[in-house]
Amino acid sequence: MPQSPEPIRIAVVGVGKIARDQHLPALASNDDFRLIAAASRHGTVEGVPNFGTIEALLADIGEIDAVSLCMPPKFRFDAARAALEAGKHVFMEKPPGATVSEVEELKRIAERQGVTLFASWHSRYAPAVEAARAFLQASTLTSAQIIWKEDVRRWHPDQDWIWQPGGFGVFDPGINALSIMTHIFPAMFITDASLDFPANRDAPVAAKVLFRTSSGAPVVMDLDWLQTGPQSWDIHAETDRGTMLLSGGGAKLAIDGVVVHDEPETEYPMLYKRFSDLVRSHTSDVDLAPLQHVADAFMLGKRNVVDEFR
Ligand code: NAP
Repeated sequence: MPQSPEPIRIAVVGVGKIARDQHLPALASNDDFRLIAAASRHGTVEGVPNFGTIEALLADIGEIDAVSLCMPPKFRFDAARAALEAGKHVFMEKPPGATVSEVEELKRIAERQGVTLFASWHSRYAPAVEAARAFLQASTLTSAQIIWKEDVRRWHPDQDWIWQPGGFGVFDPGINALSIMTHIFPAMFITDASLDFPANRDAPVAAKVLFRTSSGAPVVMDLDWLQTGPQSWDIHAETDRGTMLLSGGGAKLAIDGVVVHDEPETEYPMLYKRFSDLVRSHTSDVDLAPLQHVADAFMLGKRNVVDEFR
């Protein structure tokens, strides 16, 4: 019988909301990984050695194979570079960085070091995304509308970084929509954008972004962070084969009103399966298309000043 490979010895860095909600449970249920340490300025993980910085972790524990970087994007580059330079495989939460160029640089370092760099996009692993992709690949898209409206107070309580430059504002959830759109739609580019900045913040609370696909189909994306009550994470597409609705952030697919795919989500277990496959096959996966669209929206977008956010 073939022997299963040794588990990948991994450390989690930036122990906050997403590390606790998703990364630690996903790692605990995956035999392909062994969590052997954590690094965070304040957060800790029970049962493993904890360090205040990634530099201290890398200096102390030589036998680590990989790190999972769960801090906000603006603070990820230095940590990723330190890990790559130390010869470790790197898993990065979304968005992979605060700028496109810094992630390009990480790609070059990973290649030079011969280690895996994984820029993860968790929404791409939502259960109905592949079925939507298959439907659209066999269809001609004529138009699309993306409605991504959620309550920032519910999902990002007390997170200051998200309102700062490089924090992305409403594009922090919006990039999840973009990660699905860039996976299932034909190539597209932004033609117009309008971004609403609260008078007391440096990141937008709402945005409207217009795209055109390479064949000319219009795509409209509406982002809003002040939606209370039911939350909307929907992608509507009109095609020559009918109307597609991918709802629930990619969980459920309906064609002409008939549900054809609806399963519970397992996004983070699938992300770690992907990371393990990448490490074992000595490859990287760094798709910057969603981040490039956010950069383009900031570059092309008209800036409106709206009510303060308290
Ligand atoms: P968070 O809890 O505010 O931040 C995670 C941890 O990063 C913090 O607890 C903090 O740990 C560390 N950190 C914060 N500022 C730092 C700095 N200046 N330098 C170094 N470390 C810093 O945020 P989060 O919600 O987990 O989000 C982190 C990433 O996950 C973001 O990129 C976000 O888009 C992504 N994500 C979040 C969610 C969600 O539901 N919140 C869902 C999917 C993906 P220490 O203070 O202990 O260092």
